[in-house]
Amino acid sequence: MTESTQDPPINAGTRELLTEIETRCHANPLYTRRIGSFGFLELEESWGDEATIINTARISTTNSRITDVSQCGEREKNLLYQLLSKNHGTPFETVHFRWRVIAPIFVLRQWMRHRICSYNEFSQRYREPITAYYVPDSEALTVNGFEVLTPDLLERYEARMNGLHLFYQEEYNAICQRIQQAEEAGTIPVIKGGKNPYRARARELLRNAMPVSTYSDLYWTINFRSLMNFFNLRRKPDAQYEIRQYADAAFEMFRHKLPLLAETMERVLRESS
Ligand SMILES: Cc1cc2nc3c(=O)[nH]c(=O)nc-3n(C[C@H](O)[C@H](O)[C@H](O)COP(=O)(O)OP(=O)(O)OC[C@H]3O[C@@H](n4cnc5c(N)ncnc54)[C@H](O)[C@@H]3O)c2cc1C
Repeated sequence: MTESTQDPPINAGTRELLTEIETRCHANPLYTRRIGSFGFLELEESWGDEATIINTARISTTNSRITDVSQCGEREKNLLYQLLSKNHGTPFETVHFRWRVIAPIFVLRQWMRHRICSYNEFSQRYREPITAYYVPDSEALTVNGFEVLTPDLLERYEARMNGLHLFYQEEYNAICQRIQQAEEAGTIPVIKGGKNPYRARARELLRNAMPVSTYSDLYWTINFRSLMNFFNLRRKPDAQYEIRQYADAAFEMFRHKLPLLAETMERVLRESS
């Protein structure tokens, strides 16, 4: 059984990631959030706004267009409401958001069930794993005041996670040493530049030992119609606490970016429940 009371040494890629998170939090404070023990969410870019939706819908009925959201009067607000409440979905597909998500793999596994969007993820084939795993906070540890994971069990959980990360690092370093020795002995060719297939195979196999609490890093690009579905499903109390934290943070950023659309969405949701 692999356990260790020592934290695994943070690898170079993880150190760079930590610096990048700090830089992004300073550069974009309204649209960044640290989540949980290592997590991070940023609304990096968005395209379109309420005016885009109004103008798209108006192709059906009129040549009248608005230039931006400041021109949204009662007629436009009512049009937004009518479109949303009557499920005229396609105008809402014309507004897009790109998020940077650093989350544990078990959260991302739930996230990936949302198919109407695009993902680009950190690769453990090409890189060593991020040296960070999910540690539950006090809210995550208890249900109605009952401590599901006691401090003692949490300590053992952390020791197990440390052990798995250490196992990866020690075995990977050992394999790299053997590869180097074999290269020096002429048993295998020296590969200059590009990807080394021996080290790549080691990463492909050793990543199987990494727990689902390990953090991963991805870009998530999604249109508003699908984002609304994500909010509806993942902000509900029955969604798992950890993905809910991300969905709630994403919603707050979205609300700050497009307040009229957020308000209309909340009104429709309230009325439908
Ligand atoms: C609380 C909770 C518990 C869950 N538990 C489980 C579980 O135990 N096991 C499990 O497998 N999943 C589970 N899920 C995942 C859930 O079933 C959905 O897969 C996930 O929430 C993505 O939702 P979606 O399909 O609406 O989103 P998307 O994949 O983004 O799809 C958006 C919409 O596009 C349409 N669409 C997409 N693909 C198709 C298609 N192939 N055919 C027809 N229409 C399509 C649908 O209208 C869909 O609502 C759970 C989700 C939640 C929120």
